[in-house]
Amino acid sequence: MALTGLDIFKLLPKTNCKKCGFPTCLAFAMQLAQKKVELSKCPDVSEAAKAKLGAAAAPPMRLVTIGVPPKELKIGAETVLFRHEAKFVSPAGVAVTLDDDLDSAALAARVDKINKLKFFRVGTDIEIDCVAVVNKSASADKFVAAAKAAAGTRFGLVLSSKSADNLKAALAVCAAKKPLLHAADASNFAAMAALAKESKCPLAVTAPTLDALAELTEKVQAAGVVDLVLDLSAPKTADVLQNLTKARRAALKKNFRPLGFPAMVCVQAADPWEETAQAATYLAKYASLIVVNGIEPWQIMPLLTVRMNIYTDPQKPVQVEPKLYTVGEVTPNSPVMFTTNFSLTYYSVESDVEASRIPSYVIAVDTEGTSVLTAYSGDKLNETAVAKAMADAKIAEKVKHRKLIIPGYVAVMSGKLEEATGWEILVGPKESSMIPTYLKTTWR
Ligand code: SF4
Repeated sequence: MALTGLDIFKLLPKTNCKKCGFPTCLAFAMQLAQKKVELSKCPDVSEAAKAKLGAAAAPPMRLVTIGVPPKELKIGAETVLFRHEAKFVSPAGVAVTLDDDLDSAALAARVDKINKLKFFRVGTDIEIDCVAVVNKSASADKFVAAAKAAAGTRFGLVLSSKSADNLKAALAVCAAKKPLLHAADASNFAAMAALAKESKCPLAVTAPTLDALAELTEKVQAAGVVDLVLDLSAPKTADVLQNLTKARRAALKKNFRPLGFPAMVCVQAADPWEETAQAATYLAKYASLIVVNGIEPWQIMPLLTVRMNIYTDPQKPVQVEPKLYTVGEVTPNSPVMFTTNFSLTYYSVESDVEASRIPSYVIAVDTEGTSVLTAYSGDKLNETAVAKAMADAKIAEKVKHRKLIIPGYVAVMSGKLEEATGWEILVGPKESSMIPTYLKTTWR
């Protein structure tokens, strides 16, 4: 059970020396109880007190690592329930299944397809994290063969079997990848925990209720395994969501250690659309790892996009560096245009300019990562900001002409911009998707 501020205070030196940055030991103790400071800020705390306080000072949710670099997945260590309080820190993992009851040709075809699950979005490569090898056949040999095939991919691994013996056999061919072992339950936890301890792999645990799960995590920890993932899979979406929320709340708000671990869900939906919808729901609240069967790009891309959006800092728009970008082999006759440094806006413009096949200069004006209309209405995008961006980019030295293409949404800036820059202003399209047509028909 968590220590209160008063409990912690009793263990501190009580000298009120202020070295920790707080006026009194009691003030420091109160902050420590709320996990707002680290114990290491007090240099005078005794070793005996450190041992006691160490547990209280530990983060409310453990950080668990699955796999090894370069495809290491770190999940957990979350500190808030809502993104408006602070950022969610450890992006959830997305795993796809590889059932071991497939024949060898189907297995190879699926592995090949899984290897291609990579997408480019907002200037970043995004992809799945793990292959979950499922011992559907219950045969050790088939499980080992599937584990071998999955180990050949660039992704991390989840090894899923009810049999500790089969897990041990599969682990023998991929132990170096430090897979997540899935899953210990009340009937097999001793053997599963022994295997996880010996192999230093994280272990998933599952039970029919949260109370039973809490009991089980304590037993598994007593057996020496502390890197645990709570498997909260269930057939009904409402039950999964409720348990994900209860477990997260118990860990963060009540500091309830037995549930202070990241949670995973193996999505159970027969319909592929429903599977994607359910998985996206669990990503939003509060799964740290989801396992899905669908491997079509249209099933995976939305999940990776949802994850990307949820794990950004809501208080910090995703931005590109405000500067001059060149798209293609530019010449002194290439078009010059500007947009804002909001990533989504910039990369939309960049890819549409690329699609036009007309090499161009694109100036990303510093609008603190806001989009064109938001920046304009907040006076972050005005003639002064654009003129400064053009001067910083030394664009006048790079092109012979003096024509500036501006976003159609801010056509109203034309007059002031012409005055501020001395350049002829050409009003571009409102939507960046029209840039190729615009450039091909307008730019001479
Ligand atoms: Fe108390 Fe330690 Fe802070 Fe000094 S540094 S005031 S002893 S908590």
